Amino acid sequence: MGFDLDAALAQKKAAGLYRRRRLLDSPQGTRIVVDGRALLNFCSNDYLGLASDARLTTAFQQAAARFGVGSGASHLVCGHSSEHHALEDELAAFTGRERVLLFSTGYMANTGIIQALLRKEDSVFEDDLNHASLIDGGRLARCDYQRYAHSDVSDLVQKLKASGAERKLVVTDGVFSMDGDIAPLQALASAAQAHGAWLMVDDAHGFGVLGAEGGGVAEACGLGMRELPVLVGTLGKAFGTFGAFVAGPEALIEYLINSARAYIFTTALPPAVAAATRESLRIIRDGTALRDSLRDHITYFRREAGSLGLDLMASGTPIQPIILGTNERALAWSAALQEAGLLVGAIRPPTVPAGTARLRVTLTAGHAREDIDRLLEALARCQRMLG
Ligand SMILES: *Cc1c(COP(=O)(O)O)cnc(C)c1O
Repeated sequence: MGFDLDAALAQKKAAGLYRRRRLLDSPQGTRIVVDGRALLNFCSNDYLGLASDARLTTAFQQAAARFGVGSGASHLVCGHSSEHHALEDELAAFTGRERVLLFSTGYMANTGIIQALLRKEDSVFEDDLNHASLIDGGRLARCDYQRYAHSDVSDLVQKLKASGAERKLVVTDGVFSMDGDIAPLQALASAAQAHGAWLMVDDAHGFGVLGAEGGGVAEACGLGMRELPVLVGTLGKAFGTFGAFVAGPEALIEYLINSARAYIFTTALPPAVAAATRESLRIIRDGTALRDSLRDHITYFRREAGSLGLDLMASGTPIQPIILGTNERALAWSAALQEAGLLVGAIRPPTVPAGTARLRVTLTAGHAREDIDRLLEALARCQRMLG
């Protein structure tokens, strides 16, 4: 009875669901030192290798010398610095939107936006595989809350038709974080427009990676502000820094400044993080060579892993899951890879549906062809030894 947390933890262990943190003792990158051991890394979201780029570090140091470390207050009190403001303007130009608003994390952007936009008489429609932060946002809003089958536009349309809500918000990941597939955005945008709904896309994994200039799924699918009014990006992945933003119409941004609790009641990002992100945005815009090498890695990995007979998913992005089924099998493969000097994350429920435990391989522009060959050899060994 009561808070028997030891029993709850023992249950997690028995189910293969216990989670432990690894101790990182190096910068993020393709080579990292984890728990005292050098490993080849295939599990970061640092898709362009910018997290430890010297140009970002310099921008960060110079801004810290000028602004100090902490922002000292929320944006609405006295924490909104010229670095934050310049980054918002540059991101607005980058995304082709009227305005941008920075948030402290993607989790807070998603919960804050959904909660602010929807009242209890409104409806939110979420893809079944949406990121936890989007799902939590829908719950916080305490509005009518509906899930549609993964990327199933006709299921969504049925639900939109049946809804009499005044405000309807369709919410989806741009690139699904655990499967790597891309949402059918043009069809979702048409469905939303036809039923008077707004579309919100969380493109945490698309920015920097997809689109000719790295503008993510919106650029790749040619969706402007009218078709896609609420576009979220995070800065902790391809941008290599920390934080998040939403891009959209002027009125949306002003409304969020005035009503999003996760924006109002929290300390602003350190200004130096904004300054480093401005540098990262410049690199991303000129990052065609980085994106080309990433695309080559993806094509090569999929071809070779496919010919080994590994169970890949239909993903054209740097997220390349290998489905293994049971938690035990995912953990065994991940442990064997680590033994061989490779770090690949084992993803288990509740992050993914039960029975679809997997290795989540992420490729980055910083990898070399030989790195991917090492991974493929180790995976082939797992197949032979572990089945
Ligand atoms: C990582 C991620 C987030 C959370 O962003 P943080 O800045 O890490 O809080 C939100 N949505 C998706 C799809 C993500 O992958």
